[in-house]
Amino acid sequence: MNATAQIAQSPVSVSIGALIERCRSEIATHADRLNGLDCAIGDGDHGTNMLRGFDALLAERELLNALPIDETLVEAGRILVMTIGGASGPLYGTLLIELGRALGSGVVNNEFSSAFQQAVDAVAKRGKSKGGDKTLLDVLYPVADLLDEQHDIEGLPGMAFAFAESTVPLQAMRGRASFLGERSIGHMDPGAASCALLIAAVCRALNEGCRA
Ligand SMILES: [Mg+2]
Repeated sequence: MNATAQIAQSPVSVSIGALIERCRSEIATHADRLNGLDCAIGDGDHGTNMLRGFDALLAERELLNALPIDETLVEAGRILVMTIGGASGPLYGTLLIELGRALGSGVVNNEFSSAFQQAVDAVAKRGKSKGGDKTLLDVLYPVADLLDEQHDIEGLPGMAFAFAESTVPLQAMRGRASFLGERSIGHMDPGAASCALLIAAVCRALNEGCRA
């Protein structure tokens, strides 16, 4: 089944609580590595901040599980804005809030990819950033393209990690890392890394039809 169709079915086949658990566990497993990546070109707290955000989602999972999917995404986005903080909170928050709004406004089923594209554009606007700036957009934009092309969900995790890897040779143009100028070259962007981890966790959960 292609990714868009599978994601569109997610409220039926996958429990939101289980998805949150999978994402939180992925971030917990890699929190030290994310802190390490952020140490190289930022202030070393990206893993800690992301874990705080996903701990907060986990604490609210019963509420989030009970809401319709569009409202779940908006509420989860608000929680991430409040708890992750820094630059990443508003970016991840915007992604989920705008995805929820797009889905709630009637974008359904096979149009999940347009809702996702809309949400990624909102992240770019919020971060005053674009692809190639060495941010999570370097993962989100190509993943949005793959969804648009009806790419198989099984292949998405590997592709997402490759997109994160592609930020290594880039010079950071936004955020704290941009203050380093050319010295930001040679390091993976921590936001792109966490983004790939989360996309992979969601895809694997959907693929397995994981339940709470
Ligand atoms: Mg940081």
